[in-house]
Amino acid sequence: MSTDLKTEVKNNEQVSEINEYIKQVLALIEKEEVTEEEAQWVTKETVDGFREHVNPGFLSYRKTVTEGGQFAAVEWSDGGSCFTDISGKKYIDCLGGFGIYNVGHRHPKVVKAVTDQLKRQALHSQDLLDPLRAMLAKILADITPGDLKYSFFTNSGTESVEAALKLAKMYSDRSTIISTTRSFHGKSLGSLSGTAKGVFRKPFLPLIPGFRHIPFGDIDMMRKTFESCALVGEDVGAVILEPIQGEGGIIIPPANYLKEVRALCDEYDVVLIFDEVQTGMGRTGKMFASELFDVTPDILCLAKAFGGGVMPAGAVVANEKVFKSLFDNPFMHTTTFGGNPLACAAAIATISVLLEEKLPERAAEVGEYFLKGLKEAAAGHEDKVLEIRGQGLMIGIEFHKDEIGYEVSKGMFDKGILVAGTLVNSKTIRIEPPLTMSYEEVDTVIRSFKEVLSNVAAQ
Ligand SMILES: *Cc1c(COP(=O)(O)O)cnc(C)c1O
Repeated sequence: MSTDLKTEVKNNEQVSEINEYIKQVLALIEKEEVTEEEAQWVTKETVDGFREHVNPGFLSYRKTVTEGGQFAAVEWSDGGSCFTDISGKKYIDCLGGFGIYNVGHRHPKVVKAVTDQLKRQALHSQDLLDPLRAMLAKILADITPGDLKYSFFTNSGTESVEAALKLAKMYSDRSTIISTTRSFHGKSLGSLSGTAKGVFRKPFLPLIPGFRHIPFGDIDMMRKTFESCALVGEDVGAVILEPIQGEGGIIIPPANYLKEVRALCDEYDVVLIFDEVQTGMGRTGKMFASELFDVTPDILCLAKAFGGGVMPAGAVVANEKVFKSLFDNPFMHTTTFGGNPLACAAAIATISVLLEEKLPERAAEVGEYFLKGLKEAAAGHEDKVLEIRGQGLMIGIEFHKDEIGYEVSKGMFDKGILVAGTLVNSKTIRIEPPLTMSYEEVDTVIRSFKEVLSNVAAQ
């Protein structure tokens, strides 16, 4: 056989092997139930695939895998406040996918809207006018605070932040942007410029020039920064803030802070951007955290729960004053998939569920009960727990040390409850369950927290 022929035979073998594998995977996707044998195959393929082709770092980092991979929690299905791993163990979800499951896992109304849309059309032509984008934008103008009116749709949080930053620059024609310490705005290069964690930023420096980080909650520092930037001719163009910092460890600002920021921005004609990617869609007890503080930003960023935990979807909603800088040329900022019909269908159904089931109100009520229960459970453990704080169903438990937080989340995971640390502040674990979570489930979580806390050493 010639070498060429050999290569061809080998290639053909390889192609048929790949086809066999793909067939097996597609058959798996079709299944509702798996046998024990299939579960073992899935677990092995997942762990091997992560090690060889995704990133082996996840296997040593995740609390869900034992060394050597004898035990690995591989997720398989979900519904309500829970998800189930491939071996059938059920977990109460208190991480909520970093806050994407506000209406619960696979809410039937969201699933129905998306599948109905899918049967007719999945993605848009890009050239004709797509109806759902117009309708969702109208709904957003109605439910967002104040004069927020025009929407640009994205696929993720970081994309919403990118769009907001570009919009603010278009409008202001200034390059200084103020962000805050402990903030998290995403990890693409633009939004990462706003994000505060050194570890995430350092390898990518220099990022977008003009960003300055000042302490969150410090209005005097913000005023001084505005003044000195103006003095040196580098006027501030925009301020970007999370009304309540999520990844920073659930940090609630001092009373009046956001109002004072708004007033300062008005005085200097600075665009105020609220990054509500995590706080939006009912999480804090209001549809948007802006409403909690009675402040309307110029640009509001949404994502995470915006697609109802079914579709990736995000949006920026802006007032006319700022947004009209994009009227002349709407192609100044575009995205192929942003605002696609499936995502819009999901977002519209999500808003419907939030309103009809009064989930923002529910987040306030259940959140208060949850916070009180966790605080009671932590009584006597002051050597381990520094503080428990929260707003609605955005709750943070801050420990004295990272290790205690890790041990507690590991202990709770073993009891079938998923909680996890925050990205910028690893001493704090977050509780961000679906806003639909039942009181029974909340009680189970509080009980487990109490048990686990007693078994963890203060270190
Ligand atoms: C998660 C998050 C982002 C980034 O969203 P991605 O969809 O992960 O890009 C941005 N801002 C805030 C406040 C977030 O919590």
